[in-house]
Amino acid sequence: MNVVEIRGLSKRFRVPRAAGGGNVRAVDGLDLAIGRGEIVGLVGESGCGKSTVAQCLLRLLEPDSGSIVLDGLDISHMSGARLRTVRRKMHMVFQDPFSSLNPRMRVRDIVAGPLRSQRSVARDRLRGAVDEVLAQVGLDPRLRDRYPHELSGGQRQRVGLARSLAARPLLLVADEPTSALDVSVQAAILNQVSDLQASLGFSCLFISHDLAVVEYLCDRIAVMYLGQIVETGSRDQIFRAPRHPYTKALLSASLSATPANGFGPGNGFGPGNGAGPGNGAGAGNGAGAGRRRVVLAGELPDPRDPPSGCPFHTRCPIAQFPLCRDQVPDRVVVADGHWAACHFAAES
Ligand code: SF4
Repeated sequence: MNVVEIRGLSKRFRVPRAAGGGNVRAVDGLDLAIGRGEIVGLVGESGCGKSTVAQCLLRLLEPDSGSIVLDGLDISHMSGARLRTVRRKMHMVFQDPFSSLNPRMRVRDIVAGPLRSQRSVARDRLRGAVDEVLAQVGLDPRLRDRYPHELSGGQRQRVGLARSLAARPLLLVADEPTSALDVSVQAAILNQVSDLQASLGFSCLFISHDLAVVEYLCDRIAVMYLGQIVETGSRDQIFRAPRHPYTKALLSASLSATPANGFGPGNGFGPGNGAGPGNGAGAGNGAGAGRRRVVLAGELPDPRDPPSGCPFHTRCPIAQFPLCRDQVPDRVVVADGHWAACHFAAES
């Protein structure tokens, strides 16, 4: 059984009249499943609706329609004490480690909170349990007495991770958790998340605009465009045989992140390891090797007035008219667990 089953999720936001008015379709009929112990990457450009999906899943936002089932329970419109109980199964790691931590709390109190409230750790065992969790995320337990402002960005993000994992969540939702960090620190944090997932077995929705990060960490990838999933498949299917032109364009723009090229233990992002000139995807290393470069033209269309037919037709390098402008493409299954919403997915 999947830990998460999202079906037909939609969420709109009203835009204030001073900002032009109208409704933004942030998420539009989205389906997504996350298996037990699986890390699913949700990728797409800024503004495509990834964070709205996360907020609906965590029930920080109420969906307009569709269903969200967590561990067999429909939580789409749950409220009150039942929702608070269910929320304990999910934890979030935020993009900005500084603003997500209470500046007036010491590290030990930040981590102790979920240990007390969600794992009922007794007071006399709390210090040992805090130290254990800090060590799990690669932090020196002596940092327990520091305040967030006394830590580096990477240390703060590890504290955020420790706070989430202290509760032993069923599902970790990580929204761009490394994008505010230096590249070498990103690599260390990602390795830590990977190790922790392997030992603790939680499921994870990992949101990123960076395909290199997702390639390193995720089992399965869902590519999002204008509020919809346009392609999904295993990591290998997406990186070795992408079928949607948008996925191909994102891959062209990303760096390779195979263990030997960037995120593997001890490799960082140093020159010659994936980030150096001439080493990006499509130029020689990893999954991008030998792939024809696809340049993504223009900006994301205004989500208040999305294009007709295929929502990608205004930027697609292989769009055919009038077909792509007039007809919404079906999901074309190209392999077991791999589909793409493109009229020509079977041919590419
Ligand atoms: Fe491009 Fe047409 Fe496929 Fe859409 S359906 S991705 S516009 S080729």
